[in-house]
Amino acid sequence: MNRLKNKTAIVTGGAQGIGAATALRLAAEGATVAILDLNAERAAATAAEISSDAAVGAAGGSAVSAACDVTSEDQVAEVFGQIFADHGRIDILVNNAGITRDNMLFKMDRPDWDSVLATNLTSAYLCAKAAQKFMVQARYGKIVSLSSRSALGNRGQANYAAAKAGIQGLTATLALELGPFNINVNAVAPGYIATAMTAATAGRVGSTPEEHQKSVAERTPLGRVGEPEEVAAAIAFFASDDSSYVSGQTLYINGGAR
Ligand code: NAD
Repeated sequence: MNRLKNKTAIVTGGAQGIGAATALRLAAEGATVAILDLNAERAAATAAEISSDAAVGAAGGSAVSAACDVTSEDQVAEVFGQIFADHGRIDILVNNAGITRDNMLFKMDRPDWDSVLATNLTSAYLCAKAAQKFMVQARYGKIVSLSSRSALGNRGQANYAAAKAGIQGLTATLALELGPFNINVNAVAPGYIATAMTAATAGRVGSTPEEHQKSVAERTPLGRVGEPEEVAAAIAFFASDDSSYVSGQTLYINGGAR
């Protein structure tokens, strides 16, 4: 599919996991993808890998990378300005960077609350604000943010659940404000996806990733956990004109779990 030919996309936290799978998918649909990440080295390696992928080359896509802490307003403004200067457009923003710092409320200290809110929610506000400047001018844009099934409540994740529920409110509101400029704003809310993030969660509860995944799979109607590529496919739909009349929505991607 060449749905994203000649489009420029930004994927935050794209060095690994869901972000890397999304960057690959968008590039394989023809986009030029800028991967922004705290981990500059891994972001550069992921961009090089994507650019050398034959499927991406056939679609005309490619990937570049930049170091960026998406909780820093200055860094976001500078990097978004540079991407616009280099590519002449910013059509797609995927707010994917995220962290967890799990603990029950009585043990959750202020730095763990603040860092999770900053990385998972404030970053989306900063990046959307930086991107809309270019999107409004162009009267075109797609913003897709990562919420989570945890937005509905999850023991030990008061900080993360609050941030991911915040993403849903931000999404609904930006759809109202940016719709008149032909900008679609949507969110995806994955359940359990096999990545470094969920492997770390397994470690915290004393399980191996395999044991942890097995127990989640047993409570999931589709009988397994999700893969990053399955989230990337939904993000690509929201990033493309196939979703041109969809805005303000949050799509749960969780194997049918209630
Ligand atoms: P991951 O930990 O594998 O990757 C996250 C990436 O974000 C890393 O490359 C990291 O360096 C980057 N990052 C962290 N803080 C950053 C910052 N301040 N600035 C720039 N980059 C930063 O995580 P993942 O599992 O791929 O998750 C991706 C997104 O999906 C997150 O928002 C996460 O909350 C969300 N999500 C994940 C799951 C899951 O089960 N894995 C479920 C629901 C939602």
